[in-house]
Amino acid sequence: MALYVQKFGGSSVANIERIQQVADKVRDFHRDGHQVVVVLSAMSGETNRLLDLARQVSSNPSPREQDMLASTGEQVTIALLAIALEERGVPAVSMTGWQVPVRTDSSFGKARVEELNDSHIRHYLNAGKVVVVAGFQGVDMENNVTTLGRGGSDTTAVALAAVLKADECQIYTDVDGVYTTDPRVVAEARRLDSITVEEMLEMASQGSKILQIRSVEFAGKYNVPLRVLHSFQDGPGTLITMEQDTSMEQPIISGIAFNRDEAKLTIRGVADTPGVAFRILGAISDANIEVDVIVQNVAEEDNTTDLTFTVGRQDYEKALQILQQTGSDLGARQVGGTTSIAKVSIIGVGMRSHAGVASRMFAALARENINIQMISTSEIKVSVVIDEKYTELAVRALHDEFGLDTPVVTRA
Ligand code: ADP
Ligand code: ASP
Ligand code: MG
Repeated sequence: MALYVQKFGGSSVANIERIQQVADKVRDFHRDGHQVVVVLSAMSGETNRLLDLARQVSSNPSPREQDMLASTGEQVTIALLAIALEERGVPAVSMTGWQVPVRTDSSFGKARVEELNDSHIRHYLNAGKVVVVAGFQGVDMENNVTTLGRGGSDTTAVALAAVLKADECQIYTDVDGVYTTDPRVVAEARRLDSITVEEMLEMASQGSKILQIRSVEFAGKYNVPLRVLHSFQDGPGTLITMEQDTSMEQPIISGIAFNRDEAKLTIRGVADTPGVAFRILGAISDANIEVDVIVQNVAEEDNTTDLTFTVGRQDYEKALQILQQTGSDLGARQVGGTTSIAKVSIIGVGMRSHAGVASRMFAALARENINIQMISTSEIKVSVVIDEKYTELAVRALHDEFGLDTPVVTRA
């Protein structure tokens, strides 16, 4: 007998028919003698619909009330699944985040899980019940309802699996595993049998929305066996592993991620003196805006320099206003920006043992006539910022360049 935490995403509970299918699947696990904790998302599109309702009432809804509203989507699906399970003769109980409780900090909209009490869940499991928990939501120390950020049900599931020491945390979704890149963009993308936590973290942080980044962080920190699987098709899925494949067959690049959610800002002709980057970027970070890639040019003849950086697209207007102010304070020659950029990243632990990976990437992009605007690297990734309109072309070219198209190398 095993203990499984099984998370089903929005498209897997999109309507009554799908909820019935999920109930059949969970019933089978329960019938085989396993203990099952199910974590659900809201029906697909529901969280967006709810947040849009708030925007119809106010251009600046309070974060607390937005979380109160957004968290309701999950309450609907957990109750429906529990009812569907009971209909099948499976004892089940649904629980909201505060009933568990999933304690979080008070950063509404992006709350962090701080403590998770499993005693109620264990009590129900010991009584033979399937426990159906609302994903994405928690409660802070003042009993305010919080949400964990978009895609946060993944994090609920992995956090629960960690506390319950589950045999496996299974993330069921609308694809049959983690692919070399988004299979909706590159038809030749291949499912990976396994991927390391480190690589998955980079994939998630560089824009692959298959798993919320915090869920991968939890899996790494607490050693949670984590697997991504298709909700309604049988198959092995993808295992997120702690170990690294050290065999000769290890590919250099495991996957390609892309992100169209950033914007680029540039300030030109500021004095090249100590403290200037701090004045420019300090003002941005004081406004709680996260900066990602940064490039500063070498000083020109007149001892002035340019600085370019990226921020989340939702913060673009605010960042531009701040930069314009700093620009006039510093006597900058010009301040500007654009939202039509994309960041494309190649990721792989195999990069550590291979030189020349970045130049191979640049050459492949040059052959497609794609201009690189910015570059950023880490030990296991190289990212470039390019014009958004070339995103798919760039991803396809790199997928081909690094041999990801053909299943020559399989990873056990
Ligand atoms: P859920 O609603 O089940 O949480 P998501 O939409 O959050 O599902 O995640 C699944 C989607 O992630 C897939 O439909 C796919 O388009 C996308 N995706 C992005 N990158 C990848 C990747 N490398 N491998 C697989 N799927 C990916
Ligand atoms: N329903 C939430 C969202 O759409 C959480 C999730 O699906 O994981 O972001
Ligand atoms: Mg998701």
